[in-house]
Amino acid sequence: MTAKTSSYIGRFAPTPSGHLHFGSLVAALASYLDARSVGGRWLVRMEDLDPPREEPGAQTAILKALEAYGFEWDGEMVRQSDRHAAYAEVLDNLFNHGLAYACTCSRKQLEAYGGIYPGLCRNAGHDSADAAIRLRVPELSYHFIDRVQGEYRQHLGREVGDFVIRRRDGLYAYQLAVVLDDAWQGITDIVRGADLLDSTPRQLYLQELLGLRHPRYLHLPLITQPDGNKLGKSYRSPPLPEDQATPLLLRALRALGQQPDSALHDATAQDVLNWGIAHWDANLIPRTLTLPEAQLQ
Ligand code: GLU
Ligand code: ZN
Repeated sequence: MTAKTSSYIGRFAPTPSGHLHFGSLVAALASYLDARSVGGRWLVRMEDLDPPREEPGAQTAILKALEAYGFEWDGEMVRQSDRHAAYAEVLDNLFNHGLAYACTCSRKQLEAYGGIYPGLCRNAGHDSADAAIRLRVPELSYHFIDRVQGEYRQHLGREVGDFVIRRRDGLYAYQLAVVLDDAWQGITDIVRGADLLDSTPRQLYLQELLGLRHPRYLHLPLITQPDGNKLGKSYRSPPLPEDQATPLLLRALRALGQQPDSALHDATAQDVLNWGIAHWDANLIPRTLTLPEAQLQ
C-alpha cells in the first residue's frame, strides 16, 4: 500500500491547568483519528497562556500520558508562552485601527450585565496600559456547519458583546491566541470539545477580520451526567491512569460511536489506535452523550 498524502492538519491543544482526564482523552483520540485516517498531520500545542492557573508539572504529565496512550505527534510541540510577540503584534494592530479598545471596567461594575459586555468603554479612548483590551463585535449573526453538531448560529452583539483579547494583567486571551496559532500552524480541521462550540463564532469573526481561512469544525458530544446535567467544571474527574491505556482507549472509542472489536481487549494501545485509524467513521459520533458514572473515570 502506498502512503496516503493529505493536506489535512489537525491538532490537540491541551491547557496545562490540570492533568488529562477522560474528556481530554476523547478529544485527543477523535482529533488524532480524524487526521490519521486521511493520512493527515496531527500537532500538539500546549495552551499555557495563564501561568497563575497552571498546575506545576502538568505539561510534563500531559505529554507523558499522551505517550503512554500511544499518540505520536508530528514535529515539535508548540507552546503558546513562546508566541507572545506574535499575539502582541496583531493586538497592537487591532488597537491602532480602532477595531479593539481599552476597557477599565471592574468586575464589579460588570456584574449586572450577565456576562455580555455593554460597551461602556467603547468610545472612551482609554490608554491601553493597565486596561483590558476588547474587540469590537459587529451586530451580526455568525453561523457555521459543524460536522457533528450541525448548524450553529450566534449573534455576536446580542449574545457575546465586545470580548477581551488581552486581560488587564497583560495575559492574552484564548480567543486571540487560538485563532492566530491555528492559522500559523496551517490547521485545516479543528476537532474539540463541545464546550467550545459557543466560542467558535468569535473565532470566525477574528479570522474574517484578520483575513485568515476558516478551518472546518467538529465539536465532540457534550458529556452529560445521568441526570442530564452538564459535567460541571467543579467535577474533578481523575487523571488518566497510565496502566489503563487499552481499556480507556476502547471506552473512548465507544463514546465516539465507534465499535471496536472485542478481540482488542488484550491489544496494546498502539493496536487500538491502529484499529481506530483503519475504521474511523466521524458520521457515527453522537451529538450528546450520557455517561454512566462508572465510565467517567
Ligand atoms: N485549550 C483548550 C482546552 O483545553 C482547547 C482549545 C481548542 O481546542 O480550541 O480546553
Ligand atoms: Zn469598560
